[in-house]
Amino acid sequence: MEGYMGKKCKKCDAPLEGFIYKWIVSKFFGLRPSKKDPSVCNKCEDSIKDVVQGREIGKITHYYSHLSVGIIELSDFVKVGNRIRIKGNTTDFAQNLSSIQIEHKNVSEANKGDLIGIKVAEKVHPHDKVYKI
Ligand SMILES: [Zn+2]
Repeated sequence: MEGYMGKKCKKCDAPLEGFIYKWIVSKFFGLRPSKKDPSVCNKCEDSIKDVVQGREIGKITHYYSHLSVGIIELSDFVKVGNRIRIKGNTTDFAQNLSSIQIEHKNVSEANKGDLIGIKVAEKVHPHDKVYKI
């Protein structure tokens, strides 16, 4: 049976290769191996936090809880639409960058050395690291 079943998603057990995958799963459910981590399917990849760490692009310097805004000191280029991950001792989540502000002005991209403000999906903390994933 092993040969028939092939590889399965380690999270939801959906087959990712073999005839069941080819004939049923991929056709009807649109499931395929994740590009980030081939041991899970594309539907589970976002729920697996340690799939990829990504490239570090900066760190949090402030968090304004009343605005849900985090300030990032950038060590690399970033632009609107990038997907980032913020990780610290008690922080770990990923989100898309829907807007970037520099000194209260909206910009579409920012560079190393810039201090940017972004809307964050969850609470962040100074010294949390920011990764582009
Ligand atoms: Zn899965």
